[in-house]
Amino acid sequence: MSRTAYVNGRYVPHRDACVHVEDRGYQFADGVYEVCEIRGGRLVDERRHMQRLLRSLGELRIAMPMTLEAFGLVLRETVRRNRVRDGIVYVQMTRGVARRDHAFPPAGTRPGVVVTARNHDLAAAERVASEGIAVITVPENRWPRVDIKSVSLLPNVLAKQAARDQGAKEAWFVDADDTVIEGSSSNAWIITADRKVVTRPVSNAILRGITRTVLLEVLADHGLELDERAFTVSEAYAAREAFVTSASQIVMPVVCINDRPIGNGMPGLVSSDLRRDFHRFAEVG
Ligand code: PLP
Repeated sequence: MSRTAYVNGRYVPHRDACVHVEDRGYQFADGVYEVCEIRGGRLVDERRHMQRLLRSLGELRIAMPMTLEAFGLVLRETVRRNRVRDGIVYVQMTRGVARRDHAFPPAGTRPGVVVTARNHDLAAAERVASEGIAVITVPENRWPRVDIKSVSLLPNVLAKQAARDQGAKEAWFVDADDTVIEGSSSNAWIITADRKVVTRPVSNAILRGITRTVLLEVLADHGLELDERAFTVSEAYAAREAFVTSASQIVMPVVCINDRPIGNGMPGLVSSDLRRDFHRFAEVG
């Protein structure tokens, strides 16, 4: 089946989906993005993803180019045209096309808008989750505003590749005090020996994951105690369970960190329960 992308007001065949060479996203990584899960053909947590998109745009002083209602229609139409049942919709908004100059372009320059959507192999994802993933740690080298979901992802790209090179699926950024910040494309969690669920508090140093936000409700429902604080790599080695969260992976058990098995080296029971129950708490529109 041929794919379709939405590019600056038009639905075009994916293979022809292009942006201008002077789009500021291309020139300066001057833009933001969102990734929203699609389940059963419906958007998961659209409201929260759109709120975060508006916040990211606001922090970079890029004007939202259309109403949320109109944009919601674009998202749904892109999902429909690509016949996505279970997958993701990807949104990118940039400061638009202008003659190359670091400073902002003239007022009235229209932001660039791209939307793509694709199916995921749910069975394959469940297989990965049933085995769990390996994680490595890398030194934090990103800018201090990673709370903005900017398309400027070079450190994340290099970290993810370092993980791949070492046979792992994710890299956790670690600060100078050896505390875990977050993954290259996920938030990081551990469950301690006394069954406390630990994750770093929200600040400019992490992306406030939508999955993270929803999971707090799941934890409460499961009667699990949340301890929002930084945790060290050594604590993670000694944890009963570990996992990562993101819209595309939901709750993904971590079974190994820097080649050391976590718990018994198998996906943890609590992590697996949280994964199973997540969608009961997510908003599906
Ligand atoms: N942290 C980073 C750096 C990410 O890139 C992502 C998702 O892409 C997340 C956390 C998790 O965010 P969400 O749960 O909204 O997908």
